[in-house]
Amino acid sequence: MSFGVPGKMMDGKDESHNLEDLRKQLEETKRQLEDERERRRSAENLSPGGSLSDSDNRSQMRSSVDSGMEVAPINEADVTLRRLVQRIAMILQAEKIAIMFYDREKGELIGIPPAYGIDDEHLKIFRIRATHGISGKVFREGEPAIFHDTAADPRTNEDPFGLLHVQNGITVPLVIEKRDEENRVIDRTTIGVLHAFNKRHGEDFNDEDVRLLERMARNVGSIIANLQMYREVVEEREELLQTFESLAAGLILVSPEGRLSQMNASAREIFGTDQEAIGKNYRDVIRNEAIEKIFLANQRGEDTPKAEIHVHVRGSDRIYEVQSAQVRNEEGRDLGLVAIFNDITEMKNIDKMKSNFVAMASHELRTPLTAIKGFSSTLLEGIDEDVYSKEDQREFLGIVVQECDRLRRLIDDLLNTSRIEAGESLTPNYSRFELLPLLEKAVMVQQQASSRHKVLLKVHNELPEMIIGDQDKLDQILTNLLNNAIKYSPNGGDVIVHAKLEGSDVLIGVQDQGLGIPKEHLSKVFERFHRVNNEDNRKIYGTGLGLYLVKHLVEKVHMGQIWAESEVGVGSTFFVRLPKDLDIEKAKAQPD
Ligand code: ADP
Repeated sequence: MSFGVPGKMMDGKDESHNLEDLRKQLEETKRQLEDERERRRSAENLSPGGSLSDSDNRSQMRSSVDSGMEVAPINEADVTLRRLVQRIAMILQAEKIAIMFYDREKGELIGIPPAYGIDDEHLKIFRIRATHGISGKVFREGEPAIFHDTAADPRTNEDPFGLLHVQNGITVPLVIEKRDEENRVIDRTTIGVLHAFNKRHGEDFNDEDVRLLERMARNVGSIIANLQMYREVVEEREELLQTFESLAAGLILVSPEGRLSQMNASAREIFGTDQEAIGKNYRDVIRNEAIEKIFLANQRGEDTPKAEIHVHVRGSDRIYEVQSAQVRNEEGRDLGLVAIFNDITEMKNIDKMKSNFVAMASHELRTPLTAIKGFSSTLLEGIDEDVYSKEDQREFLGIVVQECDRLRRLIDDLLNTSRIEAGESLTPNYSRFELLPLLEKAVMVQQQASSRHKVLLKVHNELPEMIIGDQDKLDQILTNLLNNAIKYSPNGGDVIVHAKLEGSDVLIGVQDQGLGIPKEHLSKVFERFHRVNNEDNRKIYGTGLGLYLVKHLVEKVHMGQIWAESEVGVGSTFFVRLPKDLDIEKAKAQPD
């Protein structure tokens, strides 16, 4: 402070000038005092007992999770962190503040936002190996460091400080502390370092600044810890919701007041509703008496056994197994109901088909056996007395042989099915063979077997003379389709085998004028045990294995396609498309 030159003191003008100066200086001193107060206040506020303490933040976070507000607190915490970084710069009178995070995978300390006085571009390249420089040393040893002249200080040689024009600074470890209920530290992890660079006004940092930065680093650590914890909670919740949503089973949560609080995609489909259903009374959405009964019992606290419900979902009848229970928290408070709906339609169908199959297979086994036993006993009884003519004997034995073949076919079907089920293929035996004679033979054999049907072959264009495939298995395919055509045309009619060349494929169609197949069964008849079970078909015995095996022989052995077209009461055509020059290597390499 100067009072001017003494000689000029008496000058009135100078005197007023001095007074003006004094007032200005007083103002300046006041301002500095206020700054200093603010600086102390801020430092106090940032202490662990202050408004940004761990426990405060945590409880704030928890309540936000409970109320389901995920996004706001994260931004809030981000803002808090940014403000804190700014405040640190102000308190320490530092030009730049930087946080470095330890990236375990890379083994590097990496600059992360928010920073102060450093732009994003510079921050991105502000990184160093955790084994190097003063940053690495502080990180590894957990002790703060102060440096006064980076150009002359060998400790800072490796740090990327030149990039940020750092002359002096303080580096302190960034530590996350986990505390128990009584605020005792139970775990401490160093996650990075916090830097303050370049003291303003050409000054230098001192030990008091180190102490202050260490204190503030704890707050930075706790905010980051909360952020991390919060993100984990949100991510977990997200993950849970995603899992919940993508579950194949339907899942419903009902609040204690009976409102739908969650309903995943499967559940929405089962009950033909959308997200709008959330919040509505479950009765208005589900509209199923059986479920209502179960839920009411659950709400009364009763355990309910698994139940089956029948629901019409998107045009088809489905059966669901329902499991539901009341949910209570640790204190026993009612949190509502949870219900899981598992689609057991297929399982039920297979069950039904299996029992049908057992009945059918027994019948299929008994019929030929009865014939074999009957004819051979008859022959045996008559052996001594020469009761039967040679002609009769030949006929009886012919029947026995035929029935034995039928039995063998059935047993082969059963064995082949179990082989396919076990993932084994039906060892193919490939060769180049003549197609037309094979078709003609199959047609002729079937014509002989039935007098009520007319079995014909219709070749539509020039067929290739030779094709590559498994001759026996192709015969089996044709025989099976022809057998079915005759079997499922109880009133007789024409059975026509169509054949033509289509590009490099041979297309074969086996057409009948029989019972036909209802639309919903058209693709299913190729599944094992699947039989059309209606008034007309019920009297026709079979195991439901034939087409399943044929499909395997077409697709797996011959790399072909099979499908059926049909009209109930008019007839069916089974189509088989086969490559004429099968790539044997490719066919063998096919997965089972
Ligand atoms: P199976 O004849 O032993 O029952 P398949 O697997 O050969 O077994 O056939 C499955 C079902 O497909 C049959 O039960 C029948 O309902 C239906 N089906 C097959 N071929 C025909 C056909 N040509 N006409 C009508 N229905 C057929």
